[in-house]
Amino acid sequence: MNFRTHVKSYKNKKRVDNPKDDWLIFENTHEPIITQQEFDLMQELRKNKRRPTKHEEVNQFSGICYCADCGKKLYLCRATTMTADQEHLKCGTYAKDKNCCTIHFIRTFVLKEIILGELNKIVSFVKENEDKFVQVAMDNSAQKQSSELAKSRKKLKEYEKRTADLNRLFTRLSLILPNRSQPM
Ligand SMILES: [Zn+2]
Repeated sequence: MNFRTHVKSYKNKKRVDNPKDDWLIFENTHEPIITQQEFDLMQELRKNKRRPTKHEEVNQFSGICYCADCGKKLYLCRATTMTADQEHLKCGTYAKDKNCCTIHFIRTFVLKEIILGELNKIVSFVKENEDKFVQVAMDNSAQKQSSELAKSRKKLKEYEKRTADLNRLFTRLSLILPNRSQPM
């Protein structure tokens, strides 16, 4: 099942707005093989961003990679006819309309290597500078906490000022109102 195609209804198998190489042809599907209820449920499940692919596993890059140019999610291209090395990601905008962005093609194994390389750098930095790392992490956390505290203090000051203003207003009103209510 190719989840990246759109069908209007479970009876209408026409697939729209998809590149031809992503089409899947189903034979002998003249009769509805699922009920409308099942179709609706499937649509609901499809809304889940990290959905299993036909390889029956969630790809680790599915739904979390974005095109740096247009901001659209990168689209995972997999097929049973592909080797693992051929799996790749490309810009979702480009996949729909080749005039709207560039392909931003990257093989998933290349991306995996890049990420592993970056993780290794972080891990070795942490190992070599454990004390410093702990200090930086603690400072960040302390900084965050103190900025939250500063925000709360500012809010409290605002409330105190507002309360004082209201009190002054009430005092003035209580001075004015009795005079007004006095009988002529
Ligand atoms: Zn793009």
